[in-house]
Amino acid sequence: MKKKERLLVFEKYNGKCAYCGDELIKGWHVDHIKPIIRNSKYSHKKKMFTTDGTCKNEYNNNLENCNPSCASCNIQKNSFTLEQFRNNIQQFIIWSVKPIGLQLMGYKRPMRLN
Ligand SMILES: [Zn+2]
Repeated sequence: MKKKERLLVFEKYNGKCAYCGDELIKGWHVDHIKPIIRNSKYSHKKKMFTTDGTCKNEYNNNLENCNPSCASCNIQKNSFTLEQFRNNIQQFIIWSVKPIGLQLMGYKRPMRLN
């Protein structure tokens, strides 16, 4: 992504992460709201997958589909869609942040299998 395009993405949320609202710091990520699938191939020389900058679903690789994101949110979002990511966050909030309030409301925490 060109520097000019990156600046436009940065300004979409006034320099804040589109997901958690934190101020963006050096190393912030450009998230593709609808995930892109990068073309990659295995390099036997490097012993790893490498990308050539192209993607399979090029129609998702545009500025409207890009959100500024802190590294943490982008890594958590991974290749989930926005709805899947919101659902994951909701589950995290329900069972990690408000367990006492929910227990008082009669909810039972799901049992862990491990
Ligand atoms: Zn964030």
